Formats: sequence, C-alpha cells, structure tokens
Amino acid sequence: MITQTPKTTPSRSAKRATYDEATIHSILDESLFCTISYSLEGQPMSIPTAFFRKDDYLYIHGSVGSHFIRTLESGCPVCLSVMLVDALVLAKSAFHHSVNYRSVVMFASAEKVEDEKEKAEAMFLITDKIVPERWDSLRPMTDSEVRKTTILRFKIEEASAKLRTGEPVDDDEDQTLPIWSGLIPVSIQKSKPIADALSKELPLPKHLERYV
Ligand SMILES: Cc1cc2nc3c(=O)[nH]c(=O)nc-3n(C[C@H](O)[C@H](O)[C@H](O)COP(=O)(O)OP(=O)(O)OC[C@H]3O[C@@H](n4cnc5c(N)ncnc54)[C@H](O)[C@@H]3O)c2cc1C
Repeated sequence: MITQTPKTTPSRSAKRATYDEATIHSILDESLFCTISYSLEGQPMSIPTAFFRKDDYLYIHGSVGSHFIRTLESGCPVCLSVMLVDALVLAKSAFHHSVNYRSVVMFASAEKVEDEKEKAEAMFLITDKIVPERWDSLRPMTDSEVRKTTILRFKIEEASAKLRTGEPVDDDEDQTLPIWSGLIPVSIQKSKPIADALSKELPLPKHLERYV
C-alpha cells in the first residue's frame, strides 16, 4: 500500500506526481536498473544497480563482500530512484525544452533475505528480468555462488512516481515563430547479439532471438 507523505510530495509540478500503485509498479518493472542513495558518515553515496520487483518489494543482489551491500544490509535509510526517458521535448525557446519521462523515487531500508527459497527465486527473477528466459538455459548456480550472494529487499510503500507526457508548451507569443519544435522519441534498443569467442560455433538460442 503506497501512501503520500511530505517526503514524497514534490514542491514543483506536483500535478505530475502520482502515488498510484499500478503506475509505480509498471515503471519499476520496465526499468532494468535503479540508483540507490544513502549517507555514509555524512558523505552522500549514489550507486546504480540491477533490481526487480515482486509484489510490494524491490529486490537487489550483490556480493557478500561488497561495501555497498554491507552498508545497506545495516538497514540505513536509502532513497531509490529509476527513470525512463520517452522523448526529448524541443520547444521554441531553451526555457521550455523538457523531457517526457516516467520516474519513481522511493524511501526505504533494506531487509536481508535469509529464506533459501526466496533467495533462490530472487536470483532467478533478477536474471530473467534482465534477459527473459535466460535462467533455464544456464548451468545451475552452485551452493558456493549462492553463499557469495546477498539478496536485499525494500518495501515499496513510501514512493512517488512522476510523469511528463505530451508536446512542448511554448509561450503564447512564441507560438508563431518559425522555429522547429516537437518531440524526439527516445528508447532503449536491444541490438543483434554478438557471440564471444567461445560461442562462435553455437546457434543463437531461441530466447535471445525473441529478446531482440
Ligand atoms: C529524465 C529527467 C530529467 C529531468 N530534468 C530536469 C531538469 O533539467 N530540471 C529540473 O528542475 N527538473 C528536472 N526533472 C524533474 C525532477 O526530477 C524533479 O521532479 C523536479 O526538479 C521538481 O523537483 P521538486 O523540487 O519539486 O522536488 P522535491 O520537492 O525536491 O521532491 C520531493 C519529493 O517529490 C518526489 N519527486 C520529485 N521529483 C520526482 C521525480 N522525478 N520522480 C518521482 N518522484 C519525484 C520525491 O518523492 C521527492 O522526495 C527531470 C526528471 C527526469 C526524470
């Protein structure tokens, strides 16, 4: 359940913000990576990392030896954010240039996943989120690999989404200026896979054909 708090209320363009759970979940599900920010002895830190969402939780994984993961594991307060850029918005003046985007900001503290079943499922879900159907084509993880990996989860409850859509909004007096204005759509492209030296003789797996 997501509820608006003073911390998740933007001071500017608040009408673009939403606390709708389905919207927030859909932005998180479409984003491959997030940025996690926290304070380390007064020093602001901001680390990009992969994640996935399941139900009301956002999950990340990392090496048990990672300084970043060990810091978050302590349960310190964090701010997580993601953004999807849909278009560059070109107005007739520099002032009104903008971006069409969907972004999420959330506040939470990490909980360490200790349950073996939840941990195994998390490793499967993070792998298949980044490259769908990848997990089933891989050799199974070893116990040692599982032991070397920490899974942390964050409850999605203090979160906001912000969205901008549509065309540029120019000042009335600029509308007739002969200056091109409009949108440049932006998207993440997945291109043809490139086999490494060990896989040159192997056919491209069907799941990768489907992916790209
Ligand atoms: C790709 C991209 C480019 C942007 N470029 C600019 C730019 O150049 N200049 C600029 O001023 N702004 C830009 N923004 C918008 C920016 O993210 C802020 O929303 C905006 O600056 C207003 O901040 P504020 O002072 O109202 O937020 P604050 O009052 O500081 O924020 C309070 C709370 O509002 C919520 N919030 C604020 N912004 C967002 C957000 N984007 N997504 C989800 N929740 C949010 C958070 O919960 C935050 O804790 C951009 C956003 C994106 C995604």
